[in-house]
Amino acid sequence: MATSTVENYVKQILLEQEQSEGSPVPMGKVASALGVVPGTTTTMAKSLADSGLVDYAPRIGVRLTEEGEKLALHVLRRHRLIELFLVKVLGLGWSEIHEEAEKLEHVISEPVLERIDALLGYPTVDPHGDPIPSAKGKMDIRRLENLSSSPIGKRLRIARITDQEPEFLRFIEKNGLQPGAEIKVLELNQIADTISLSLSDDEAVMTIGVSAAKKILVE
Ligand SMILES: [Zn+2]
Repeated sequence: MATSTVENYVKQILLEQEQSEGSPVPMGKVASALGVVPGTTTTMAKSLADSGLVDYAPRIGVRLTEEGEKLALHVLRRHRLIELFLVKVLGLGWSEIHEEAEKLEHVISEPVLERIDALLGYPTVDPHGDPIPSAKGKMDIRRLENLSSSPIGKRLRIARITDQEPEFLRFIEKNGLQPGAEIKVLELNQIADTISLSLSDDEAVMTIGVSAAKKILVE
C-alpha cells in the first residue's frame, strides 16, 4: 500500500497534468504546490519512477504511468467524496472541508468509501464543482471557461471553483458565487482589471478582480 506521501505526490502530479494538458510536469511545480523544498522532490521523483508510478526525465519533469494515474484518481476519488460527505451529511462549511479531506483521504477504508458513495447517490462532482472519479477510475472533465473570458450579458451558471484556500472560498460564499449560482457578466473593465457581474435573482452589481474571476469556472 502506498504511503500518504506517495499518494499526495501522485495526486498533485495528476492535478498539474490537468493544467499542462499532457506535457510532463516540472518537479519544481509539484514541490511548490505541496509546500516542500525542491531538493527532496528529485529524490521523490526517482523513487516514484522506481515504483513504476511515473516516467521521470531529469530537468524536464514527470508524467504519471497508467498505474500512477490509477492510484492518483483513486486518491482524488476519496478526497472529493469525503469533502461532499462532510458538507452534505456532517454539515461542515465548505471552506473548512479541504484540510479535513487531506487527512482522511489516506486512512478511509474501501468499504466505508463505497458506503459513502452510495449514501450520496453516486455523485459526479464535489462541493467545489470538481469532478469525482468513478470507482472504475473514470473522471469526466468538463471543458469550462473562466469568468474572465466569458461573454458579456449572457446567463451563466457557476460550475467550479478552482482555488480551495479557505479565505477565497469564504469570499465566494459571502458573495453567493458557489457552484450552481446563476450570474450575468455586465462589464469587463480592462483598465481597472475588474469584472462587474450580478446574480440572476438579484439586481445588485458586484465587482471582482480578474485574478479572482479566473478561479471561477462557468458553463
Ligand atoms: Zn479538497
